[in-house]
Amino acid sequence: MITPFTYLPPAIESRDATLAEALAQGLPLQLLLIAEEQKESLLSLPALAGLQTQLALGKKAPFTLMHGNTLLQVMFVAGSVTRDHRLYKQIRGWIAPLSGLNVERLGLHLEGFSPSERVMLAEVMLSALLAANISLPTSKRRSESSWGYQQIKVSPAVVLDLARLYSEAGGNGLARHLAVLPASELTAASYREFVSKLAQDEGWQCHHYDQAQLAELGAGAFLAVARGSEDNQGAMVKLSYYPPKPVRRIALVGKGICHDSGGYNLKVSGSMYGMHLDMGGSAVALGALYAISRAQLPYEVHCWLAIAENHIGPHAYRPGEVVTAINGTSIEVVDTDAEGRMVLADTLAMAVQDTPDLLLDYATLTGACKRALGSRYSGVFTNRSEWMASLVNLGQRSGERIWPFPLDDDYDDNIESEWADLLQCAPGSSPDHIDAARFLAHFVPEQTPWLHFDLSGFRNKGGNGVVSSEVTGFGVRLTLDLLASPLGRVGRQASEQSE
Ligand SMILES: [Zn+2]
Repeated sequence: MITPFTYLPPAIESRDATLAEALAQGLPLQLLLIAEEQKESLLSLPALAGLQTQLALGKKAPFTLMHGNTLLQVMFVAGSVTRDHRLYKQIRGWIAPLSGLNVERLGLHLEGFSPSERVMLAEVMLSALLAANISLPTSKRRSESSWGYQQIKVSPAVVLDLARLYSEAGGNGLARHLAVLPASELTAASYREFVSKLAQDEGWQCHHYDQAQLAELGAGAFLAVARGSEDNQGAMVKLSYYPPKPVRRIALVGKGICHDSGGYNLKVSGSMYGMHLDMGGSAVALGALYAISRAQLPYEVHCWLAIAENHIGPHAYRPGEVVTAINGTSIEVVDTDAEGRMVLADTLAMAVQDTPDLLLDYATLTGACKRALGSRYSGVFTNRSEWMASLVNLGQRSGERIWPFPLDDDYDDNIESEWADLLQCAPGSSPDHIDAARFLAHFVPEQTPWLHFDLSGFRNKGGNGVVSSEVTGFGVRLTLDLLASPLGRVGRQASEQSE
């Protein structure tokens, strides 16, 4: 049994109140966000007088003061505010220290901003607060007290999309919850059990294509990896969410390798440590589905989880084998540690059979992507090159930054095999993140708009975007922003595009 995931978001209410009224509420914790231009005039307020001393001493934000029984945390925001990595980093820095406080209620007051800036700042602050309010599972006998507040009062009044805020925090929290579970707890078998139960609770259709069924379907690439596990528990799990009046059909695909030993190309020198996170892509796909369905967004979603473990054993696949994928493509195996593209190949080929308007896949796929970008960004590849600029922009605004890499088909020269249709990966030095994306492109027809995320940003010290924990759940927030953007409306009927 996996540690259950329960998400009980705090109540958020917003109402008009002046700064003085907000301070008079007597909440145990009051966060004050003040426009830099207002600083001088506000320092004369008796409640904020203590700030003068802190500023004179050269202290940095956040500034902490007591006002009666209220702990005030004061933060200044300079200039015209934009949703970019600087703002996200600043806000994570303000919120992370609060997790030690055991308060049940808090206030958030925004002073001196234009209405649009106020909405944007409230949205980012609340998203970060909600992310911080999720306690991740731990095996420590005594864990540090986690922050669990139940109410946030926002002033002045701002119009907030609460359904979006809650569902995003829940979806991202679910992704992080699953990812941090140790390899001893989250196995292919227990993961599948968890997903079935979740599907029941959330009202999704659920089908497990188990290894016997995959063998009948001819999913030789997926099975090459899955057959290495003695327990026969690998499966492609398809979850479907049908809203009443869907406007688009979306397919989400995620790599769910619960543990990656590398297989016969065994990971050495400590590089196996942390490989329980190799299911991160599937957790993001599942988290995105959870968020979409909780927010009741009008998208028909089919979410495909490629769940398996990459082990060694008498049946495990070996370099030099040739296997055939579900769409008839034969693959010459080069390196068993390139298992992600093997399980994804068949899963993508299955996912496109539903003719989605948009196909998104998420995978902690290559070390090459991490070497190219580090872990602040994730890589993105698409067969719609005209989307590149919008994608980069979306990433900046969501706080989950993505950087595009080429998907030109002349890179196929790198994965040309002497004996089969495709080489699994290029031996020796090669841009493996691009080769991997090209490999996957052979399982997605050109007419399906497709985005492939190589999640180098799934784990980053200090967090990322609105999330302060090292395991970031990178991709859930970005996906919701993407669906809300014009790219989320690409679709079946050409007439609809001119709306
Ligand atoms: Zn691997």
